[in-house]
Amino acid sequence: MTVDGLLDHALVRLDEAASHLNIDQDVIEKLKFPRETTKVRLMIRMDDGSRKSFLAWRCRYDDTRGPTKGGIRFHPDSTADEVETLAFWMTFKCAVMNLPYGGGKGAVQVDPRKLSKAELERLSRAYIQAFARIIGPDRDIPAPDLYTNSMIMGWMADEYAQIKGQAEPAVITGKPIALGGSLGRGDATARGGYYLVRHLAEDLGLGQTMRIAVQGFGNAGQNIASLLGADGHKIVAVSDSEGAVGSKAGLHIDLLLEAKAKGQSVASTAGQGGHELLDPKDLVGVDCDLLVPAALENMIDCQNASSVKAKLVLELANGPVTPEADAILARNGIVVLPDILANAGGVTVSYFEWVQNKQGYYWDVEEIHERLKTIMEREGRAVWNISREREITMRTAAYVHALGRLAEAIEAHGTQNFFTS
Ligand code: NAD
Repeated sequence: MTVDGLLDHALVRLDEAASHLNIDQDVIEKLKFPRETTKVRLMIRMDDGSRKSFLAWRCRYDDTRGPTKGGIRFHPDSTADEVETLAFWMTFKCAVMNLPYGGGKGAVQVDPRKLSKAELERLSRAYIQAFARIIGPDRDIPAPDLYTNSMIMGWMADEYAQIKGQAEPAVITGKPIALGGSLGRGDATARGGYYLVRHLAEDLGLGQTMRIAVQGFGNAGQNIASLLGADGHKIVAVSDSEGAVGSKAGLHIDLLLEAKAKGQSVASTAGQGGHELLDPKDLVGVDCDLLVPAALENMIDCQNASSVKAKLVLELANGPVTPEADAILARNGIVVLPDILANAGGVTVSYFEWVQNKQGYYWDVEEIHERLKTIMEREGRAVWNISREREITMRTAAYVHALGRLAEAIEAHGTQNFFTS
């Protein structure tokens, strides 16, 4: 994702949604630009005594509906354009789910695999030192993203507490449980998608036993396969960055999870339990009812979109379908449950973590699941109804749903302070 103009690409969705709503052009103008993006150079001491610097950003795209919320990624290809695009998506994702947040995002341009654990900790702490004035429990709330995890969030929360001189757990979500993290955060993204599919299954004409292909077998991919597999659906193909396997009779999820736990590819299970090697490039076109992209951006493009045989695509990854591919899927009658709705279970449970931190009272996992299910079903149903009533795709409907809420909030703030509210 290093192509310039990524945000311009994403903004096409905004214009499209606006064409279905009667809203003030000023609202659109406000949402076309990030409110603020801060760029810094983080300097840290390496283990060998040398110093190294890394570019880092934090974008607060829009805070009309509440403090900005969004992850921090550590990736060598990160750019300001990517950070702003991801923050734009977060703005709409939080609005779709009616969470009291705006959208934000952060990144450090680094390959974390090249750092020792101590260097990684120094870099994480340096990020918070640089951005302590920008983030805050009621201002901007980071979370994990690509190549950042709960351990890093723990270091960051600790650094923020040291700067402020008091514990402020609500400043960051995705923390270890011991530091105020929430139960149920681990599988929240997949679980949200699972509740959504289950809720809309009848409307979508899905059968009792679906055949499912999952692209990417990390947190999101493994959990969606486990949840749907436990309901008796057949996982017929899975892939990761190193290979893919398939089985018409259904893959053994235990074998796949075991391989991943040992640090091996899903392809290492080929030959066991009827698992057959597949070319990972063919995964998108596997004969199935449900295709779950749970890997990277732009994996379904104009080259492979017409090979998709699934009736339904559940976007657990962010931006896995290019706009051109989206049009092909729509033409072929394939329903896409879009990322800003389908993978919003993650930010929803992050919101629960923030609420629990603020109230100092913690819920059990059943309560988390029940609350997540209620929100996924409520917003999923609302988007479905918009899509049916207006005869538009679920993606456009999700943007229409979110934009309606954003416009209402922008107007409610008053127009005299329009661009600074
Ligand atoms: P992860 O790092 O745990 O897993 C990613 C998986 O994708 C790995 O199995 C990796 O091998 C695989 N992969 C990478 N390149 C691939 C390729 N070319 N073909 C097939 N597989 C490939 O990440 P994750 O947390 O599961 O996130 C996956 C996607 O879901 C990302 O787009 C992420 O932004 C999105 N997402 C995750 C969360 C969350 O809470 N984890 C929340 C919202 C969105």
